Order: sequence, then structure tokens, then C-alpha cells
Amino acid sequence: MTDDRRAELAANLERVENRISAACAKAGRPRDEVTLIVVTKTYPASDVRLLAELGVRQVAENRDQDAAPKAAECADLPLTWHFVGQLQTNKVRSVAGYAGIVQSVDRSRLVTALSKEAVRAERELGCLIQVALDAESGDAARVTGERGGVAPQGVPALADAIAEAQGLRLDGVMTVAPLAGPYAGRQLAAFERLMEISTDLRATHPAATMVSAGMSADLEEAVAAGATHVRVGTAVLGVRPRLG
Ligand SMILES: *Cc1c(COP(=O)(O)O)cnc(C)c1O
Repeated sequence: MTDDRRAELAANLERVENRISAACAKAGRPRDEVTLIVVTKTYPASDVRLLAELGVRQVAENRDQDAAPKAAECADLPLTWHFVGQLQTNKVRSVAGYAGIVQSVDRSRLVTALSKEAVRAERELGCLIQVALDAESGDAARVTGERGGVAPQGVPALADAIAEAQGLRLDGVMTVAPLAGPYAGRQLAAFERLMEISTDLRATHPAATMVSAGMSADLEEAVAAGATHVRVGTAVLGVRPRLG
């Protein structure tokens, strides 16, 4: 069983690697500008272990209830854990214990909570600002919809808050291609808009170079737009057994 699963994951990883390489070549970008993060949500710790054996170093989860025990089981592996889901402040203490990077920072209350728990855990937490591109025309920075994210005009204030917070490091921006609004169904345009937001951010925070965009279905568009990190679940692990 394990051998079968290992072979399946190896083949899937190779296919994804070929897709990323081809997208980089097409965009005239060096392959090493793009880092693959494998989204292991809903899959067991045994899969995370196999992925680590196959050379994966970055993994992502979106629910603390699932991620915390998995990270504990895999604590001996050389992995960086990314948290990519909507994060409630009552889960922050747990997440701060294992996450290297929280990609879903979208409100100042969360910055305060993350800072407090990072200091308590004596860890430095990388933070990406999750940008909601379906909120482009909103009149104020706000959390929108179920998927979270701050409207583009809310990014500068949130960036300053993270940069000033103890225990936190501002690493960049993240988005999920929007299902509604002007960018619905227009992944390339959405990711190009995220790149603009990243360029503006780097004018005041030059170290915030990470741009996390693109999933199994749209990683090519993300690489074309300039993403530095793609988050791939299904194309590596298979179609998820339940919603995650
Ligand atoms: C699940 C998830 C992914 C991966 O999606 P796939 O379509 O399975 O590749 C990427 N980013 C976030 C935020 C996710 O929740």
C-alpha cells in the first residue's frame, strides 16, 4: 500500500514539476523563482511523510484541528508548515506552535493575536497578507465572504501593523482566485492585480517578496503573472475525499 501510494505521489509530483517548469520557461523565468507548496489538507500524516521522503519541504493546511496533530506527528521531518485557511483568534495559539508562515492574515485583530502568541512561543512567524480581489470595489478594508482576505486598499495599514508587531515578519501577499466580482473566471488578470499590489507593498516593505497564488487548476496563470509560490493540493494528492 505504502509503496503504491509513494509511486502515485512521485508520479503526481513529477507531473506538477513539469507543469511548473514549462510555465516558467514560457514566462522566461528561472525555475528556482517558483516554490511548490503542497496542500496536504484532508490527507493523513503518512502522506506528508512520503512527500517529505520525495523531497517536498513546504506543506500547507487550512484547518487547525487537522493540522495540529499532523504537524505533531511529523515534527521530526524537515518541513515548513504554511497555514492557508481562515484563522479564528482562538486557534492562533495552536497555529503559532507549528506554522512557519501564516498566509491568511487579513485583519488587525489577527495581527495582534499572532504577535502575542509568537512572542509567547518564542518563535518568529512569517505573515502573508491575504488579499480578497472580489472586494476590489468595496469602500473600506473589510473581510469578505467565507474565504477571507482584506480588500486591496486595506493592505498598506495591515502591512505596517505586521511590520511593527513583535514576533512577526512581513513576507508578502497571497490570494485565491475570486469566484465573484470583476476577476471571476479571469485568473491571469487576478494574479496580475496581485502582482501590482505586491509591487506597491515592496516600495515600502522591500523584504516582503513572497507572492503566493495559483492552485492545481491555475498554477500556470500564477507563474505567468509572477507568483513566487504556488499552492497545489489535488494535482499532487488526488481529489479530496471531503470538502476542505
Ligand atoms: C485547498 C487549497 C489550495 C489547493 O487547492 P487545489 O485545487 O487542491 O490545488 C490552495 N490554496 C488554498 C488556500 C486552499 O485552501
